[in-house]
Amino acid sequence: MSTPTRNSPSGTASAGPRIAHDASVFGEAIDFFNEAAANLDLDPNIKRILLHPSRQVIISIPFLRDNGNFDVYTGYRVQYSFARGPAKGGIRYHPDVTLDEVTALAFWMTWKCAVVDLPFGGGKGGVTCDPRALSKGELERLTRRYAAEIIELIGPDKDVPAPDVGTNAQTMAWIMDTVSMHNRAHTPGVVTGKPLVVGGSRGRVEATGRGVMICILAALEKMGRALAGQRIVVQGFGNVGSISAKLLMEHGAVVVGISDQFIGLNNPKGINVEAAIAYVASPQNEKHSLEGFPGAEPVSNEALLELPCDILIPAAIENQLTADNASRIKAQLIVEGANGPTTPAADGLFSQAGITVIPDILANAGGVTVSYFEWAQDRMGYYWRENEVNQKLEEVLRENFDAVWDVARERNVTLRTAAYMVAIRRVVDSLMTRGIYA
Ligand code: NAD
Repeated sequence: MSTPTRNSPSGTASAGPRIAHDASVFGEAIDFFNEAAANLDLDPNIKRILLHPSRQVIISIPFLRDNGNFDVYTGYRVQYSFARGPAKGGIRYHPDVTLDEVTALAFWMTWKCAVVDLPFGGGKGGVTCDPRALSKGELERLTRRYAAEIIELIGPDKDVPAPDVGTNAQTMAWIMDTVSMHNRAHTPGVVTGKPLVVGGSRGRVEATGRGVMICILAALEKMGRALAGQRIVVQGFGNVGSISAKLLMEHGAVVVGISDQFIGLNNPKGINVEAAIAYVASPQNEKHSLEGFPGAEPVSNEALLELPCDILIPAAIENQLTADNASRIKAQLIVEGANGPTTPAADGLFSQAGITVIPDILANAGGVTVSYFEWAQDRMGYYWRENEVNQKLEEVLRENFDAVWDVARERNVTLRTAAYMVAIRRVVDSLMTRGIYA
């Protein structure tokens, strides 16, 4: 793979991009897109359209603090693409949220939904705030006002938010209720990732970790290897990391390393993941950390990534595999549970070293796939059993994994470039079939 370059996102200097791309998260995000677009020989006119978000909205959110004062926070909703259906993507509450970051996340959602062939475009939202510093009442008021401010934009046929960093199933229940109150109609399909009791889907909590496991099984089959006995290292022990590790262990893999933001743990003979999950969840464990978990040696998060293993699953945060540590990674298969854990420079080095990377937009698409199932169930008012959800998830991921694998082999490109090629092709097909209303 050639080293990705950061081209002008507009394709030409005269296109007049509406947002600043240099030194931005969105500017970084387009690197992988550009590589795939070059392989597809994408028409510059189409590329110009694809590199602009459809809609970016900035709102002010006044809300009442518990102390009687009003604060005003800034919120965003970016609807990147509607080419394949309603926009789809989470809402992030974090102090570092910016319009640029939300735009990049909405851009990624566009390709993630397309690579697993969901009838959705891409979107994302966010509020610049520290949710840990707010009481439950403050969070509810903030969330309801945010929802009310974007109420014309969201809906089952328009844009379907979901949880992301700093938000959860409760946040989605408040949004669903706010929209339903304004609509004077029960509207569960306006958000996904809801609690089961208000129209959530069975299997949603485990879906992303399950998707990671399905992708690993599919890749190993292609490589003629079995999962039993494979040594696994997982960075991050939250929803994605802990469930991936648990499911892989149940399938005979040996989990030799796990970590959270506080500590890494290593045991070449295998870590009891079920016991580690119980340890972290224990009410006595106030930080809900792996610190002090018995039967494994402590290591730093940096050293954890470089442990001897067969499969490495970064499932914590972005930019963990970089030009600095790429040459020390021992795994032959890297599976991106997290979004954006590999920098473009590291990706090029892995490709040169013959290390296979299953990219984030495919590896962690299990979550949005079951979100799609939730949306479909809400619209039917008919809810599936967990084994039906899991079976349909496996079908969707297997079919699209195969499509990506075939493109990678036929075109001699990485799985990442192939995944973007499959996704871009699908978005362009839809765009061209609808016609460009210009
Ligand atoms: P989470 O908050 O449940 O867990 C995150 C874990 O990462 C925690 O164990 C935390 O301690 C750890 N962590 C945080 N900072 C770290 C650091 N600097 N070094 C090592 N570990 C660190 O989050 P999650 O839902 O599991 O999401 C993890 C990643 O997966 C994120 O990139 C997220 O965007 C992505 N993702 C999640 C889903 C989903 O359905 N939850 C879907 C797609 C993608």
